[in-house]
Amino acid sequence: MRVGIPRVLNLYSTAPFFRTYFETLGLQKQNIVFSDVTSEGMWQEGAKYGSVDPCFPSKVAQAHVHNLLFSHHDPAGKRLEVIFFPSLTHVPNFVTDTVDDASCPIVAGTPNVLKAAFTKEVDFFAQRGTRYLDPALSFAEPLLLARGMFEALGALLEVTEDESDHACRQGLLALAAFDADLQRRGRAVLDTVEAENRIALLVLSRPYHGDPGLNHGIPEEFQALGYPILSIRSIPKDRTYLERYFQQSPAQSDPLALSGVWPENYSANSAQKVWGATFAARHPNVAVLDLSSFKCGHDAPTYGLIDTILQTARTPTAALHDIDANKPGGSIKIRVKTYAHSLRLHQERVEDEAARRQELSHRVAVKELELLERARANTKDLSELDAARLGESIEALRQRVASYHPRRGPEQETGLVRLGRRRADGTVERFGANTTIAAE
Ligand code: SF4
Repeated sequence: MRVGIPRVLNLYSTAPFFRTYFETLGLQKQNIVFSDVTSEGMWQEGAKYGSVDPCFPSKVAQAHVHNLLFSHHDPAGKRLEVIFFPSLTHVPNFVTDTVDDASCPIVAGTPNVLKAAFTKEVDFFAQRGTRYLDPALSFAEPLLLARGMFEALGALLEVTEDESDHACRQGLLALAAFDADLQRRGRAVLDTVEAENRIALLVLSRPYHGDPGLNHGIPEEFQALGYPILSIRSIPKDRTYLERYFQQSPAQSDPLALSGVWPENYSANSAQKVWGATFAARHPNVAVLDLSSFKCGHDAPTYGLIDTILQTARTPTAALHDIDANKPGGSIKIRVKTYAHSLRLHQERVEDEAARRQELSHRVAVKELELLERARANTKDLSELDAARLGESIEALRQRVASYHPRRGPEQETGLVRLGRRRADGTVERFGANTTIAAE
């Protein structure tokens, strides 16, 4: 059996769950088919079925269903027995104190709207010999999620409820493993920029803005200029790591809580965007690229809040709140260039501050060395052990003082940033081309 899944909306954040579910129940990897990444060609070819005019991320879903139906499904050859486009009413959320973890209603309703669009005059699914399944599923309630998966797919896949439940558990484990892997990569980016006094760019957006057809390649442009890109999902959620930045925040004593900053946080993706802003506001090496789609009613209430958080912290931010189907190449280039200039200035400030910190620490070491040497000269009756310890401390300080070289930080490399892991002494051990970023 082959199953087609549109590469859209919150499937960007939940796909590992569904892929693992199908694989656990025996589908071959190559028989789980995602639609292509959004492109202008795909949009023009498959955009004539919609009957509503909301934001581009939901409008473009019709082009993805069309892509599955007409490019990946061949009624006479390699068939897609099913196009599976679940209505996700609630999605996983790492923010701990949300009022609810709902999806945007447009995200939740799009699969059903598309069923109507592709069947209203001609039933394209029947005509091309495939089935369209759009069960309502909620990640907020794992038992209901498992029940919904079994009801939608159990008979079709010829599995028992126990087998389906087992596949759901494997799916949730795969989702957690995927998150952990992304966070390890995010940690590597953050460690590298911290150790080298550089800037990483956090893209504040919804998961599906990772689609290059939706973000118009803007994050890649900054990456090519030497600013590594972080997604909200890739920020480490390890509390010990986060407490370094959130420890003096009465409004967020739990670093993953948000209600002290935004009490009406019932939408999972919106809450994550605002949380991402609170992290960027506290991290000196993180700047923000805030992306929103034109006509996004769910982002609108967060604009003021995110703006206030980032402005108060003076975190460099570029906000593009009107991205749509058209790629205004010229205007994007101007905005990228303008923001890149601000980022360069910010980077200089970060380097200057690091140089000042180093100089201060050097002066303290010089003074300490002077005092210890004076103490040794003036103290006659030290035990052999104490004298040896004092000698060691003096030698360590001498080496530290001798190794100090006043500088403004390393020359910034251009192009892609080579990641690494920060050693205990603050230097960075580079990952080789084939290194796996393993769990610590
Ligand atoms: S959250 Fe915004 S961009 Fe996403 S589907 Fe809803 S309205 Fe569209």
